[in-house]
Amino acid sequence: MSGPVQPPNSGRRPRVGVFKFASCDGCQLTLLDCEDDLLAIAEEIEVAHFLEASSDVGCGPYDLSLVEGSVTTAEDAERIRRIRAESRRLVTIGACATAGGVQALRNYADVTDYLQTVYARPDYIATLATSTPISAHVPVDFELRGCPIDRSQLLEVITAFLAGRKPGVPNHSVCFSCKRRGTVCVTVAHGTPCLGPVTHAGCGAICPAYGRGCYGCFGPSGTTNLPALVPLMRRDGMSDEDVRRFLHTFNVTAFAAVEEALEEEDLP
Ligand code: SF4
Ligand code: SF4
Repeated sequence: MSGPVQPPNSGRRPRVGVFKFASCDGCQLTLLDCEDDLLAIAEEIEVAHFLEASSDVGCGPYDLSLVEGSVTTAEDAERIRRIRAESRRLVTIGACATAGGVQALRNYADVTDYLQTVYARPDYIATLATSTPISAHVPVDFELRGCPIDRSQLLEVITAFLAGRKPGVPNHSVCFSCKRRGTVCVTVAHGTPCLGPVTHAGCGAICPAYGRGCYGCFGPSGTTNLPALVPLMRRDGMSDEDVRRFLHTFNVTAFAAVEEALEEEDLP
């Protein structure tokens, strides 16, 4: 990172924009849920654009843009290019923005089938055949994972960008969090299928702490070893189709590489 988001000695607060694409708003709500911390941050920045929080809409340029949601329409593909052009730093927040979200299930189906099933007048709907992450359209400075994101990680990312340093968000897996809180491994002890070994930390390993497997809502960690994990899932009773469904839960396209390997039967 080359420096703080605010130009040095500019005498003004950094301007922050928060933008929504195809999403449920849950990640923006995480920002609002920061409560007292948000008030402290709000004193250090100018919130120039945040439709979820204010009808006072300012225009760019922005020192830092937080982007929630995936690109699912031609208009949104154009809009993210405009936002990128107006943003010194651009951070994507959540599974929709970093991996296409649940709505990327369409990527493995015919979107017109969904339209016919869901809408009384599908001819009114103009949509792309795929749901894609923001990084498929513009350069992204940092991707914050989760569905929804973790508020402590979000605060760390915002303060890091304001200070001009790298965000201290570890890239390791949920397994590390289980060890830290002393949770017995659900796969080793109980034969419960768990995506924790390949899932990005951030939630504090909530699910294994309550005796169930992780289903990957934080997306891939930095050190995924799916070829080692898939045989374990098979051992615990999952078919290849079960594995595919497991991987498709929240970050539908994020584990595409392992699916290709399954197709080619490269995995043990
Ligand atoms: S990542 Fe999850 S919580 Fe965030 S906007 Fe998408 S669906 Fe909602
Ligand atoms: S599914 Fe995995 S990443 Fe999501 S909350 Fe549960 S343990 Fe955490």
